[in-house]
Amino acid sequence: MAKADYYETLGVSKTADEKELKSAFRKMAMKYHPDKNPGDAAAEVKFKELNEAYETLKDPQKRAAYDRFGHAAFEQGGMGGGGGFAGGGFSDIFEDIFGEMMGGGRAGGRARSTNGRERGADLRYNMEISLEESFTGKTAQIRVPTSITCEVCTGSGAKPGTKPTTCATCQGSGRIRAAQGFFSIERTCPTCHGRGQTIADPCGKCHGQGRVTEERSLSVSIPSGIEDGTRIRLQGEGEAGLRGGPSGDLYIFLSVKPHEFFQREGADLFCSVPISMTTAALGGTFDVGTLDGTKSRVTVPEGTQPGKQFRLKGKGMPVLRSAQTGDLYIQIQIETPQKLTKRQRELLQEFDQLSSKDNNPESTGFFARMKEFFEG
Ligand SMILES: [Zn+2]
Ligand SMILES: [Zn+2]
Repeated sequence: MAKADYYETLGVSKTADEKELKSAFRKMAMKYHPDKNPGDAAAEVKFKELNEAYETLKDPQKRAAYDRFGHAAFEQGGMGGGGGFAGGGFSDIFEDIFGEMMGGGRAGGRARSTNGRERGADLRYNMEISLEESFTGKTAQIRVPTSITCEVCTGSGAKPGTKPTTCATCQGSGRIRAAQGFFSIERTCPTCHGRGQTIADPCGKCHGQGRVTEERSLSVSIPSGIEDGTRIRLQGEGEAGLRGGPSGDLYIFLSVKPHEFFQREGADLFCSVPISMTTAALGGTFDVGTLDGTKSRVTVPEGTQPGKQFRLKGKGMPVLRSAQTGDLYIQIQIETPQKLTKRQRELLQEFDQLSSKDNNPESTGFFARMKEFFEG
C-alpha cells in the first residue's frame, strides 16, 4: 500500500512553516479525533496518518530527511520507528493540542497519586499591619475558612466500620485506556472519577469527600522588621487533601499600612518636618516622636536651609532577624509665613532693606549670573 504524502495528508504546501503545520494539524486532528468519530475505522486511520505526518514534519531533521528520501527515510526503522512516533511524540501532541479539550480530568489525574489522594489547595490570607506592628512584631490570631480532614472517617470518605472498595472499572488506577486501533487513549475513569475507589457507604458527615469545611483559628507570628509585600508560608495549614492526601500550604500576604508621619525605605525611616522661617533663620529645637515610644530632640542650627537632613541613629526600623536597626532621617521643610498683618509686613520690609548679600548668597544676583551664562 503506497503511503500518502505527508504534506498532502496535512493539506499544506512543501514550503509551509512551523506555524502553518501546527495549525493545519490542529484543524485536521480535531476533525478526525477518535473521540469525535467513535467506531469510525477510516477516521482512525486518518488520525494516525495525521499524527505520523505532523510528527515527522515538525522536526526539522526528520523533515529534511523526508524531503530528500520520502518515506524510505524512515523505513529501515521498521515498526520500531513507527512505535517511536506513537510513544513519546504522541503524548506530546496530545498535551499540546488536546490538553484543553480533554480538560480537567487529565490535569486532575496528574495531581492525583494512587487511591485518588489529592493534595489540598494552597490558601492565601491577606493581612494588613501598621508600621508600629511591623516595628514591634506581633502574634496575630486569624480565622481561616478551610476544609479539613473529616474526623469521623479520618479522611477515607467511607462510613466508620466500612472501607472504600477498589473501583471495578479501572481496577484502582483511576484511569481507563480505550484502544483506538494503533493508539490507546487514556481517560479518567467515569465510575470513580479518578479516585480509584468507590464508596458504597459514604460517611454521613462529609458525604464521601473525606473533608469538611470549617473555620480554624490560627496563631501567626509576625517577626519585627517585616516589610510590606512579605509572604509568610505556613506549611500544611492550607486546605486539607482529598481522601487522605497531604494538606496544602497557607500563605500570609502582608501589607504594611502607610504611616501618617514616617516613610520607610528598607530599615530607614524618613520624616518630613516643616519649621517656620524664623526657626530656620534663628535656629531652634523641636522633639519628634519615634516608634520605640520615646522622643528625640532635634537641634536646628541658625541659617538652616530647606531640604537639610538630620540623622537620628538607630531610630529607624529593626532589621528582620537581626539585632540591627535603621536610622530615622528628619528632612527639613521651611514654611514661608502667610496672611501677614500690617505690622509684620512693615517689619519684613524693614528687614529686607537691611539685608545684605551675605544674608542671601544664593538668591542675590542669581538672575544676573544666569543672564551672563546664557547671553555672554
Ligand atoms: Zn475507577
Ligand atoms: Zn467523613
